[in-house]
Amino acid sequence: MTSVYRINYHLRAHKRDPLIEFIKGMLLTPFILHATPTSQLPSSDKPRDPTTPGGGDDAYVTDMSTWLTETQAAATPGSGSPAPLDLNLDANGPPVLRRNSFAMHANVQRYAEVMTQVEELVNEHIAMQAKGLEKYSRLRRLVPTVGTFFTPLPLRESFLYANSKHAIASRKYVPPSFNEIRRILNTAQIRASAPHLRFITFDGDMTLYPDGQTFAADSMLITQIVGLLQRGITVAIVTAAGYGSNAARYQERISGLLQGMAGTINSGHPLLTADQATQFYVVGGECNYLFRCTPEFTLRYIPDHEYESKLRAWNDDDIQRFLTVAEANLRQCVHDMKLDAQVLRKERAVGIVPQSPLDREQLDECALSTQQCLLQYNHASTPDQGKIPFCAFNGGSDVWVDVGNKLIGVQVLQEHLGFSPRETLHVGDQFLSTGNDIATRTACCTCWIINPQETHGMLDELMDQLRRRGAATES
Ligand SMILES: [Mg+2]
Repeated sequence: MTSVYRINYHLRAHKRDPLIEFIKGMLLTPFILHATPTSQLPSSDKPRDPTTPGGGDDAYVTDMSTWLTETQAAATPGSGSPAPLDLNLDANGPPVLRRNSFAMHANVQRYAEVMTQVEELVNEHIAMQAKGLEKYSRLRRLVPTVGTFFTPLPLRESFLYANSKHAIASRKYVPPSFNEIRRILNTAQIRASAPHLRFITFDGDMTLYPDGQTFAADSMLITQIVGLLQRGITVAIVTAAGYGSNAARYQERISGLLQGMAGTINSGHPLLTADQATQFYVVGGECNYLFRCTPEFTLRYIPDHEYESKLRAWNDDDIQRFLTVAEANLRQCVHDMKLDAQVLRKERAVGIVPQSPLDREQLDECALSTQQCLLQYNHASTPDQGKIPFCAFNGGSDVWVDVGNKLIGVQVLQEHLGFSPRETLHVGDQFLSTGNDIATRTACCTCWIINPQETHGMLDELMDQLRRRGAATES
């Protein structure tokens, strides 16, 4: 019999990332077994013999009055020691818990061991991939939906780095979270990608600028993107925003960045040479419209015939029939859920534009039901299969169905510019199954951020690694 838990789990699958959930589950075991919240104010950080009765973590237990006496004795006036804490505690009151440095250190070791094991599972998966046997890897057995890895991931080292900043292993009540593991995976990917990185692609909304807004001229990301181009790394923005071949509309969205590159805001002279400037691209409508930066820091539309690819082998009749099916399903959603929204059809996309904010659940329902409907239309099991690959996604405040997806967007550029998956890194905020960045995982390495501030932090780490790469090359 199917349990309610199982039903709930499956209905929530679009809110989970299976690899992150797997790592989270692995870290939960040491957290539950060893980070037990039983230690009360200890008199010493030195561990007692765990074999004695009441040993182990309980061995740190002492009564509150002893601890207060010790603390006050250690802080005699004029000794330079910090003043004793005036806790105003009643000795008969509830116990106060204090973290023990020995126990915390042991916890770091246990978490690091888990990360080492996952790292080895990834290495084995990569070795099996090379032989075309990845479906038999242990990791695939444990996480059936796990995809392709283009680099090993130094997870132990990345965990220790995150722990040194956020003391994850010091916590006794809150286990390592989804977001912490996501950020550890990002750090690992940055460290693994930096030595080979030649091409970096960014999503637009919520990655480089707030949802629906433009790239501000005072954005802290400008210096970092300019720095990447100065290092000879090709940069592209791969966005769902679809304005056809209208370069002016895309220029308007990223005007702050273009001004920053041109140096018109601060220095008064261009920060990039013509060669560096022309290594900046914008792909609109997921994969449908390509623009290249000119030496004058404007965007030039590149017509389809200049970079023909079999990856986009569809014609206008196919597209219109496909969009009609998608539009009908979206209209049905608006009607059935009584949404205050309009359906908007474009040349290669159709979407729901809310007149007042919609709930995340309503947006997810629109995205998932349309995804399902189009999979049936395509006779396919995933959106990147079938005659018209597509992307039906929850954009955070709206829902869109685009012809093609970011997988094709990134692959077309890789093909056109000659970059391999290992040399490419995509940064985006939509990696759940209702998002539009997840498709890129098949084409390149990825970093999953949730807002422009995280992109800034991630690029800080990347620039640091690139400086090390430069230093290593020079020596
Ligand atoms: Mg986004």
